[in-house]
Amino acid sequence: MSQGESVLVVEQPVQPVLVVESAQEAEVTVHIRNEPEVVTDVSNKAGASILLNGNALLRPVSVQGMMEHALVHRERVGVQDFVLLEDFRSEAAFIDNLKKRFNENIIYTYIGNVLISVNPYKNLPIYTEEKTKLYFKKAFFEAPPHVFAIADNAYRSLVYEHREQCILISGESGSGKTEASKKVLEYIAARTNHLRNVETVKDKLLQSNPLLEAFGNAKTHRNDNSSRFGKYMDIQFNYEGAPEGGHILNYLLEKSRVVSQMAGERNFHIFYQLIAGGDQELLKSLKLQGRPEAYKYTTDAASGQNQRNNDAAQFRLVQEAMKVIEISESEQAEIFQIVASVLHLGNAKFVQNEKGYAEILSHDANTGNVAELLKVNPSKLREALTNRTINARGDVVSTPLDLEQAQYARDALAKAIYDKHFSWLVSRLNASLAPQNKETLSSVIGILDIYGFEIFPKNSFEQFCINFCNEKLQQLFIQLTLKQEQEEYLREGIEWEPVEYFNNIVICDLIEARHTGIISILDDECLRPGDASDLSFLEKLNQKLEPHAHYKSHRSSDVKTQKTMGRDEFCLVHYAGEVTYNVGTFLEKNNDLLFRDIQSLMASSGNTIVASCFKDVNLTSKKRPETAITQFKNSLNELIKILSSKEPSYIRCIKPNDFKTPMQFDEKLVSHQVKYLGLMENLRVRRAGFAYRRTYETFLERYKCLSVDTWPNFHGAARDGVQKLVEVLNFEKEEYRMGNTKIFIRFPKTLFETEDAFQI
Ligand code: ATP
Ligand code: MG
Repeated sequence: MSQGESVLVVEQPVQPVLVVESAQEAEVTVHIRNEPEVVTDVSNKAGASILLNGNALLRPVSVQGMMEHALVHRERVGVQDFVLLEDFRSEAAFIDNLKKRFNENIIYTYIGNVLISVNPYKNLPIYTEEKTKLYFKKAFFEAPPHVFAIADNAYRSLVYEHREQCILISGESGSGKTEASKKVLEYIAARTNHLRNVETVKDKLLQSNPLLEAFGNAKTHRNDNSSRFGKYMDIQFNYEGAPEGGHILNYLLEKSRVVSQMAGERNFHIFYQLIAGGDQELLKSLKLQGRPEAYKYTTDAASGQNQRNNDAAQFRLVQEAMKVIEISESEQAEIFQIVASVLHLGNAKFVQNEKGYAEILSHDANTGNVAELLKVNPSKLREALTNRTINARGDVVSTPLDLEQAQYARDALAKAIYDKHFSWLVSRLNASLAPQNKETLSSVIGILDIYGFEIFPKNSFEQFCINFCNEKLQQLFIQLTLKQEQEEYLREGIEWEPVEYFNNIVICDLIEARHTGIISILDDECLRPGDASDLSFLEKLNQKLEPHAHYKSHRSSDVKTQKTMGRDEFCLVHYAGEVTYNVGTFLEKNNDLLFRDIQSLMASSGNTIVASCFKDVNLTSKKRPETAITQFKNSLNELIKILSSKEPSYIRCIKPNDFKTPMQFDEKLVSHQVKYLGLMENLRVRRAGFAYRRTYETFLERYKCLSVDTWPNFHGAARDGVQKLVEVLNFEKEEYRMGNTKIFIRFPKTLFETEDAFQI
């Protein structure tokens, strides 16, 4: 037999069997004992399980590196679980394993129960109906690593063990988070297909994606369909395990994109889709011309005919989704009026009057269109965009704005309308997804698809928020993973061995501690009347925080830091690495001011969505609205509370290259992500205890043929059978522990040697 060739001998008829992990895994021949005949050729059957004669036990012979029931050649396609890496401390070995698999089109690998996914940037035949079914009711090790395995595991724990679940998906932009979240949803839909009355709910859940993506996603340099908001979605199940409804929470839409984008990037998809796909009548009613280039907010359209066709096709899908979600015709009309009014608003023209103030000419068509579409008084709109009324201790004073201030006011309005209407859309979706029968609701699976850690050449307020979010999620990860490990040891009656790990709580505190954290200092500075500025904020940070192991500024005692850092920057040593933030615009973005006149005008809008979005802003209250960062902090803490009450599964997504292209694996780029995602630390913690654990039944079933005492059947408790096996196999005391229901094996080597024992 030549090297790498895999042959299995079937000892006696049993079920299941053998799973082919890679498409290249051709030429697998199966022999029946005493009658060596080729029963199947499995080339091109990646992921297929081959059923042999009903109930078979497979005995692998001369299989290089065969693991579990999955045919894996360690040399060629690496290990399917990183805990099995001999050299688990080496990042190079980690990346090499990922790369080997990626080159074989195997994009999924585990670290214990964490799934690592590398974006293939091409459609692989791994999500077919056949592949989907392969994961129904399967334990992790029974089929190759897959996002479906994560979904099935969560679903089973929910239905059979009544434990609430959440699936946390992280990774940088373009790494495949949203695609993974869709696969989870699709899997759950397929998995519950046989259950009654779930069609409409499932359709609505599935259709919520194209709708949210149209309004919340945009083309960026890093991803043609980049989610510009964070999303947490609960799928609610009834007692039968059928989906009954859903609920979505949205986080921090990147609203600055509404008014400007980097060259080559686009605004939110819906602007282009509406222009390209709206019919003549609709466009006429919205007073839109046929080209995005005509509008200032969408000039950087970078759109050829192909793109326009695609936008038009997407628009039809959006309309379809709206129907499924039961968004009425009149609501749709109002939504499109809002989208169009933002475009018109961007084109509003200011002129400078003789006093040097901004003015909008009364025949300006753009503001006229906005007023008509939003059903507000046009002269009041022009007035509100060029004046600011201040209520100073009871005296109402109106001050005219200069050109720059007026442009600021206009952009602030465009951002506010779009942002608030996006949140409205989410709550509208929630209304539609709300379960019909609340009484039968049992439990939920939550899916979190949220921005990963960001380090750019220049980092601002947005990166600060995003990285704070990641810091909090890392904290949760630490707590939950360690807790999970600890609980399993406790359940199994195995002594817990403390694991050394970096606890990032110090960084969370540095950012959010009451009175003393960065957020608190920023809010104080935003509230301080007088000469507060971005630089005075930085000054306060430096005074109050330094020296701190995780904070640096140009004043730091370390000479290198002094030299490299600007006077308008501070640096945080995050768990994932150092990030230098530029404080410019921190105060403005955190204050997120919308002038009072504009707010009250919008509250009077005849567009019911706009009116409802602005009416809850309490205009008479003296109390200032919460700052942007405080709102974010509060919603994040809410999220953490929700997630902490659930059992987590993790999907860590990796982007293999910066070119959105298949078959390219940039090791340097991947290495950064392995660091940002904290994967080596994750692996180290997982390996600190036992690399491998299986129930006694599973272990015995797999290895019983290795001893005459247990072969062909062991009469007695599975635990005793396993005890016999470990004696026969000469496991050292240090190598394993016998828990209440499982055997724990410390080193992968032990397992591989056991596997190799097959090759007698
Ligand atoms: P962002 O943070 O920008 O929203 P993301 O992590 O959500 O990024 P996705 O939008 O999920 O990234 O993926 C980016 C693109 O990569 C997809 O549009 C798709 O073309 C491709 N892609 C991602 N995952 C897969 C996959 N499993 N199979 C094939 N293509 C994929
Ligand atoms: Mg996304």
